[in-house]
Amino acid sequence: MTEASRLRPATADATLSTPASGQEHVDDTRTAMSSATIRHAFLDHVFYTQGKLPGHASGNDLYQALAHTVRDRLVQRWISTAETYQNQPSRTVAYLSAEFLMGPHLGNNLVNLGIFDEVRAAMTALDLDLDDILAHEEEPGLGNGGLGRLAACFMDSLATLEIPALGYGIRYEYGIFHQNIIDGQQVETTDTWLRHGNPWEIQRSEWAVQVRLGGHTEHYTDDRGRYRVRWVPEKTVVGVPFDSPILGYRVNTVNTLRLWRAEATEAFDFHTFNRGDYLGAVSKKVTSENLTKVLYPNDETQQGKELRLEQQYFFVACSLQDMLRLMASHGIPVTRFHEKFAVQLNDTHPAVGIAELMRLLIDDHDLAWHDAWHITRNAFAYTNHTLLPEALEQWPLELFRRILPRHLEIIYEINARFLDEVRIGFYGDESRVARLSLVNEQGGRYVRMAGLACVGSHAINGVAELHSRLMREDVLQDFYAMWPEKFTSITNGVTPRRWLALSNPRMTQLVSDAIGDGWIKDLDQLRALEPYADDAGFREQWQAVRRANKRDLAQLIRDCTGVVVNPDSMFDVMVKRIHEYKRQHLAVLHIIALYHQIKSSPNADVPPRTFLFAGKAAPGYHYAKLMIRFITSVADVVNRDPQVRDRLKVVFLPNFNVTYGQKIYPAADLSEQISLAGKEASGTGNMKFAMNGAMTIGTMDGANIELRDAIGADNFFPFGLNASEVYALRAAGYHPSSYYESSPELRAVVDLIQHGFFSKGDAAVFRPLFEGLLQHDPYMLMADFASYLQCQREVSAAYADQDRWQRMSVLSSARSGRFSSDRAIREYCERVWHVDPVPVCLLHRASGHVQGPRRGGDGASGTGGTAGNTSSSVAGGFSERCQ
Ligand SMILES: *Cc1c(COP(=O)(O)O)cnc(C)c1O
Repeated sequence: MTEASRLRPATADATLSTPASGQEHVDDTRTAMSSATIRHAFLDHVFYTQGKLPGHASGNDLYQALAHTVRDRLVQRWISTAETYQNQPSRTVAYLSAEFLMGPHLGNNLVNLGIFDEVRAAMTALDLDLDDILAHEEEPGLGNGGLGRLAACFMDSLATLEIPALGYGIRYEYGIFHQNIIDGQQVETTDTWLRHGNPWEIQRSEWAVQVRLGGHTEHYTDDRGRYRVRWVPEKTVVGVPFDSPILGYRVNTVNTLRLWRAEATEAFDFHTFNRGDYLGAVSKKVTSENLTKVLYPNDETQQGKELRLEQQYFFVACSLQDMLRLMASHGIPVTRFHEKFAVQLNDTHPAVGIAELMRLLIDDHDLAWHDAWHITRNAFAYTNHTLLPEALEQWPLELFRRILPRHLEIIYEINARFLDEVRIGFYGDESRVARLSLVNEQGGRYVRMAGLACVGSHAINGVAELHSRLMREDVLQDFYAMWPEKFTSITNGVTPRRWLALSNPRMTQLVSDAIGDGWIKDLDQLRALEPYADDAGFREQWQAVRRANKRDLAQLIRDCTGVVVNPDSMFDVMVKRIHEYKRQHLAVLHIIALYHQIKSSPNADVPPRTFLFAGKAAPGYHYAKLMIRFITSVADVVNRDPQVRDRLKVVFLPNFNVTYGQKIYPAADLSEQISLAGKEASGTGNMKFAMNGAMTIGTMDGANIELRDAIGADNFFPFGLNASEVYALRAAGYHPSSYYESSPELRAVVDLIQHGFFSKGDAAVFRPLFEGLLQHDPYMLMADFASYLQCQREVSAAYADQDRWQRMSVLSSARSGRFSSDRAIREYCERVWHVDPVPVCLLHRASGHVQGPRRGGDGASGTGGTAGNTSSSVAGGFSERCQ
C-alpha cells in the first residue's frame, strides 16, 4: 500500500462518483490525450479494470490501470491500422524470430504516443510518481541478448517508418532466467513474467491453428494419377496467437507482434478421456503445453535438443498458416504469396519455414514443385548473425526425421536439385558438392540449417561490413561462389526512441533545446550538434547531464549490490552476455594490473575508475560462469582493500536486462567492446553507448569498425589485433605462454591469479582459467593484453582532460546517426523486402454506434490481422481523420 496510500481520497472519490466538474474540460472522446482525460481514464481503470477503490490500489494495480489507459489509446490506432491495411492491401514484412527482447512497453508507448508529460502531470495530480509506476512493469525477457533485442528495435523502426509488418515469434511462459549472484556465483531462477498478467497482449483464440509433429509419411497416387505424399503425424498441438500492439513514433501505425502459445488439442483429450484415461489425457495436455514453456538460455551456441526443434517448427508453422489465412481473407491466391509477404529469417532458427512453405504449397495446395520453389525463394530472405562454428545450427538427421518426417523428404529433394545445380556450375568438383550439401555426412549426419536458409532465400545478409565480408570469405564462401548476387550487408542499428528519448530524458531535453527534436525520427540530424562540441557552455550542460545520469546509476548500484561508487570516477562499463569471445576476462586482467600497480607503488597515478560488469552466462556454460566468479572475486579483494578504496571499484550488477540497460548505457563514460577481432558479428551495445555519449575502447571487430569511421579516429580508442592479424597469427602458430614469459606486467597479473590471491588461497578455483589462457587461449587475450593496457593508459589521460573528454563525448553522439535501426530498416526495405510505407489515418469511434460483425467478415481484418473484432466499419460508428 505504498503509492496507493498517497492517493488523495477526496479527489479520487469525487472523480469516481461524479462526472467531471465544470471547471476542467474532459474531452468526450474516450481516448483523448489531455492530462485531465488521461487522469479520469486512469481512475476508471483502477475502479473497473482492477476492481479497486483508489485508496486500496496496490502498486501493481496502479501500473495495470495506467497500462490499460495507454493501451486504449493504442487500440484506437491499432484498429485504424488494421482498417487501412484491409482497404489498401500491400506487401507486408513478416519478421520471423525465435526471440523478441522487447523491454518494458509502458514508457516506450508514452514516448511514441507523445504523452509522457501529460501522463506525468495526470499522475502528479493524483500524488503519484510516474517513475514508481513504470518500475512495476515486469519486462518480457523473451530473448537472450543482441539478436532478440535487434528484433525489438526493428519492430519499433518498422512501425515508425509506417511499413506494414508482423513480428512472429514464441510466447514463452518463462523468458530468460533471472540471474542471482550468490557467493559471487550465478544462480538461476525462473522468470515468471506473466504472474501478474500481461496488459499488452490480446489473446486471439479465433485464429488458433493446428501444428502436426512426428509420425510418418505415406506415398500414393491420387485419382488424377499424380504422385502425392500424406503426412500422418504422431501428435497435433494447437497454436494460439497473442497479439501485442507495436506503435511507431508519433505516427498512427500500430503493427502487430504475434507470439504463439502451444496448447493441447481438445479433440485429442476427449478421445483419451472417452477411454477412461482422464489423467493420461491431462498429462498429454501438459506435454503439449511444454512446447512454449521456456526460452533456451543459450546465446551463440546450439545443442541439438528435440524440444528446441519443436519450438522452431511450431512457431514457423503457426506463422505461415496465419499468413495464408490473411491472404485468403484478402482473396489473394496462394500463388502470390511472395508478392504479399516478405519473410525475414532472423538467423536460422526459423529456417525450417522454407521446407514448411514448400510442404503447404505442394501437399496442401497442389502446386507443382517448380512453382512452389519460385514462390518460396522469392518470399524468404536470411540474416546470418554469427561466424562462431558452435553457433551454426545443425540437427541430427534421426532427430529431424522423428519430428519432421515430411520436411526431411522435402529437404532431400531441395538438396538433390540444388546439388545438381552445383555439379553443373562446378563440373567435377565433388568436394565442393560435399561442402555445400544440406546434409552434413561427416561425423554423424546432420541437416545444416544455414545451408537450407541460403538455398531457399533470395537475399542473404550479414549484420556489419566486416561480418558480411568474413561470411562471404569463410562460413558461407561456397554459397557466395554460387550466387554472389544474393549477398548483401546491412549493418545493425538500435532505436533512438528507447535508447535515447526514453532512457536518457536529460540528454533528450538538452539536445532538443539546442537543435529541435527532429533527430528522434531522423537520427542523422544529430550532426547539427557538432558545433556545440566547441561551445564551453554547452559542454558544461552536457557534463551536468552525464553527471546526473551517473548519480542515478550509482544509486541503482547501491540499491542492488550495496556497493557505494563515486559518480566522479570514470564509469568503465562492460555489459553484455558473458562469453569467452567477448573477453570480459581481458577487462579483469586490466583491473588486476591496475591493482598490482597501486599495491606495488602506492603513489602511482591511477585515476579513479568504477568498473561495472553485468550480463548472464548460459546455465550450462561452465567457463562463462567461472568468468563471473572471476569478476566478483576480484571485486571482493579490490573493494575491500583500503589502499585502493577510492581509486578502484569493481561491481557486478546482477540480472542484466533491457530495464537495467536503460539506466546503464546513458551513464557510462567508457564502453568496453573488446571481443577478439572476427568474432563479434556486429554488436549493438556499442551503438547504444556511443549515442549516449560514452567513449569506446574497442577492437576492430563487428560494427566497432564502422563506429570508429563514423565518429572519427580521434574519438575512439582502438587496440589489438585486427581480423587478418588474428588469422595470420593463428596460421603462424600461436604460443600464448610466450607473452607471459616476455612481459613482467602480464606475468605479475597471471601469477596473482595462479597463486590463489583472488580465491582465498585456493589456486584450484581459477585453474581452468589461467591454464586455458597460458596453454590454448583461443580468444588470444595474451596477444592483445599489452595493446589493451597501453590503450587504457591513453583513455585515462584523455579522461583527465575533461574539456577534451566532453568534447569527444558530444561528437560521439553527434556522429552516431548511422546506427539508428531506422537506417537499417530502410536498407532492408530497399534492398531485400521491396516494401513501401502505408500511412495510417486515425479512426475515431463515434459514441453509441457499434455495429454487428461485417458480412462475410471472419475477423481477419488487415494484413496485420490486428483487431480481429473490427465489428465497426468506417461507415458505421467510426469517423476518419487523417493526421
Ligand atoms: C543491447 C543489448 C544486448 C547486446 O549487447 P552487445 O554488447 O551488442 O552484446 C544484450 N542484452 C541487452 C539487454 C541489450 O539491451
